[in-house]
Amino acid sequence: MIRPDATGETELWTRCPECAELVNRRKLERKLFVCPRCGYHFRLTADQRLALLLDRGSFVEHDAGLGSRDILDFPDEPPYEQRLSETAARTGHREAVLTGTGRIDGTPVAVGVFNFPFMGGSMGSAVGEKLTRIIEHALGERLALVIVSASGGARMQEGIYSLMQMAKLTVALGRLRAAGLPYVSVLTDPTTGGVAASVALLGDVNVAEPRALIGFAGPRVIAQTLNEQLPADFQRSEFLMKHGMLDAVVARAELKRTLARLLRLLDTRDAERARDVEAQPRADGRSAPAGSRHDGGARRTGARRRDDA
Ligand SMILES: [Zn+2]
Repeated sequence: MIRPDATGETELWTRCPECAELVNRRKLERKLFVCPRCGYHFRLTADQRLALLLDRGSFVEHDAGLGSRDILDFPDEPPYEQRLSETAARTGHREAVLTGTGRIDGTPVAVGVFNFPFMGGSMGSAVGEKLTRIIEHALGERLALVIVSASGGARMQEGIYSLMQMAKLTVALGRLRAAGLPYVSVLTDPTTGGVAASVALLGDVNVAEPRALIGFAGPRVIAQTLNEQLPADFQRSEFLMKHGMLDAVVARAELKRTLARLLRLLDTRDAERARDVEAQPRADGRSAPAGSRHDGGARRTGARRRDDA
């Protein structure tokens, strides 16, 4: 069950923005914040998302203290740095993404989760840096990567520094791919702008929640530019799925199970271990015992190599 966090509403009833049904808050929690009448998937905070996807108590946060600064002296009201500190106080986090390690049904993963309540999950230099560091951690520890997007795109207040994060993350993900490590991207409502145009759609497997808004520019801008009427479900998960941009649309109740299955299918650690054991036979001539499946993978293999030396 997902508990509303400190930033969550305390109201007893919540109105579904899709079908206008009044839903009891408790019932909504039990339904993982999916409307029992129409199936609308309410937006989750990063904390709720982590509680939904990771094994209980397995999350270890990285770089919690990393935050952006007003490098451009951006003219804003309130000033950007004040906006940052106020948002941090309100959300309990310093930035619009949470990163760290955890387990999904036993499989260790490196994880990044955008926090939409933090300035619309916008990607500034600190968000890009935190994600790059967790990708590099995945590389170093030979972990699979899962990133859950919920973002309005690049952060206006950091201009070009925000846009540069798209290239930086694309390169980091390229290195992960070259190392043969899997990346599963989860796109949630909304995933737009520079986040959709970089990290969110670069997964080896791209999975979205139903009816999530996914796109680069907004539909109004596109309709005006093309001078054409857009289809009703334009830029929604199902539309993208139909046009080959996604690999699966998965209901929230099935999301953790689906990720666990994908991670097991994409898990290269057993093969790596077998290869490593073959390359380094033990001194007594017997083959080394295979480790248990979810024991942290390559690190264990490394330890065995040191034993043998
Ligand atoms: Zn509804």
